[in-house]
Amino acid sequence: MHACRNCRMLLTEEKVCPKCQGTDFTDKFSGEIIILSPEKSEIAQFTEINAPGKFAIKVK
Ligand SMILES: [Zn+2]
Repeated sequence: MHACRNCRMLLTEEKVCPKCQGTDFTDKFSGEIIILSPEKSEIAQFTEINAPGKFAIKVK
């Protein structure tokens, strides 16, 4: 699993991030959260995530 450096979305096989079309990935990330309803989630607001999906909390 790797995380998009741009938006922190976690991906398994994808070579291009489906959220931001970024191609810069890292496998050095810490924490993971699953966002279901970003508009209702305090975690999503705290981490500035605005889309549902699985995200790393921090990427290096
Ligand atoms: Zn991305």
